[in-house]
Amino acid sequence: MSTASKPRVRFAPSPTGYLHVGGARTAIFNWLFARHEGGIFILRIEDTDVERNRPELVDGILDSLRWLGIDWDEGPIFQSQRLEMYRAAAEKLLANGFAYLCYCAPEKYAGGDHAEVEEVEEGEEVEEKKSLLKKQRCGCRNLDAAGRAAAEKQAASQGFQPAVRFRVPEAGTTAFDDAVFGRREVQNAEIEDFVLLRSPKPGQTARLPTYHLACVVDDMEMRITHVIRGADHLSNTPKQALIYGGLGAAPPIFAHVPLILGPDKTRMSKRHGATSVGSYSEEGFLPEAFRNFLTLLGWSPGDDAQFLRTAELLERFSLAGVSRTNAIFDRPKLEWFNTQYLQKLPVEELAPYVAAELKRAKIWREEWAGAARAWFLRTIDLIRLRTRLLPDFSAAARGFFSDDFSYDPAAMEKFWKDAKLPALMAKLAESYAALAEWNHDACDKVLRDLAASEGVKAGLLINATRVAILGQAVAPPLFDSMLAIGKERVVARLRQALPAISAKTTS
Ligand SMILES: [Zn+2]
Repeated sequence: MSTASKPRVRFAPSPTGYLHVGGARTAIFNWLFARHEGGIFILRIEDTDVERNRPELVDGILDSLRWLGIDWDEGPIFQSQRLEMYRAAAEKLLANGFAYLCYCAPEKYAGGDHAEVEEVEEGEEVEEKKSLLKKQRCGCRNLDAAGRAAAEKQAASQGFQPAVRFRVPEAGTTAFDDAVFGRREVQNAEIEDFVLLRSPKPGQTARLPTYHLACVVDDMEMRITHVIRGADHLSNTPKQALIYGGLGAAPPIFAHVPLILGPDKTRMSKRHGATSVGSYSEEGFLPEAFRNFLTLLGWSPGDDAQFLRTAELLERFSLAGVSRTNAIFDRPKLEWFNTQYLQKLPVEELAPYVAAELKRAKIWREEWAGAARAWFLRTIDLIRLRTRLLPDFSAAARGFFSDDFSYDPAAMEKFWKDAKLPALMAKLAESYAALAEWNHDACDKVLRDLAASEGVKAGLLINATRVAILGQAVAPPLFDSMLAIGKERVVARLRQALPAISAKTTS
């Protein structure tokens, strides 16, 4: 493929919030498509809405993308630094008759309200309100020379700069092709004369572009070949197709990807749990697991494969696999993916995430990256079958890495009740202290011999010991755990637990 024919795609978030899971999924699709096709992935920040933008959120969005493992080839490019380009495009549309100056109050006609309805993220209600306003075109569209001069004069006397509206044809249809949804066609009578440049609001000096104008001008200038974005933009696309026509350009290939819904089939929102990518990172999901999960929301590899590591996704991704059906964000499924990754990743790949978690919990020791690395990897391997999220390594499994752990009250309640335990556990501690060889079978034998000679079930001692050395009722197999923790610490922990066991059995 020559450079000229390489696909060019973009992800274009607005810094009006954090990176939403829906936006993240769109970014992943663009990224997978670009990487699969050997194309270019561009990051563009759509920050022309001065009232809703919060520039400080840009870093958070970039961080979330990096966490997801998404890299970009060009950008971030900020629309706020390209305003002259959009104004020039509007001038061109005015000059060739595809646009006209509108002297009306911004809220009088559809498409002129500064609360740009198309940019509202979720909203059926908005759709309805919009359709009521449609079709009615303002008189500025057909002003004759005298009328325009009068309007111009009045505007000048009031210091009012007119908006620029697109002159939508009154008859005919506007059509575009969508790689996912097929050909779409809309009656022009249904499309309002949407605004391209807004009349400045109080406190502003210059006219700002609307989403439609900036988006099309950028996509043209950046030579975008495929616009892959959420299906909530389907309704915007006829307007954008009209702008392409007015600027004498062919539109790119559109690919609208299905929306992500909550389990109740409404748009994914805070009601359904966390919606920002950052909160899943903080909760301790593995980025690759999260990415795998998101990729399968609205895309299928064509078979029932689910556990698809990055290399496989890159190899198999194509727009042909994108569904028209909205996807359901299923939290248990996400947790299933995370568990799969925790269990299946090569332990060397998992180790950096565990190390970061232990650092976060302030129980990390440098030797685990050096002399004791083999121990560290073995221990992760032992623990990981029982983990769901990264913090499990520093919480339930804390006793493997730190002497500073507490006894789970429910575990104490359940396994430290037997009145014989204080005496038995004291003997067990001394038997282990006297044990010359610290290996699995020797540890096993000591415990079973004691149980036999005292006439109790081995399970009684196994359960009580697990709580004493790890604080938990559920943990990896006991004797493997004892090996990982080491003789000295096991004996110390057994001795240390004796007062608490006595207190429990007499309470
Ligand atoms: Zn008007």
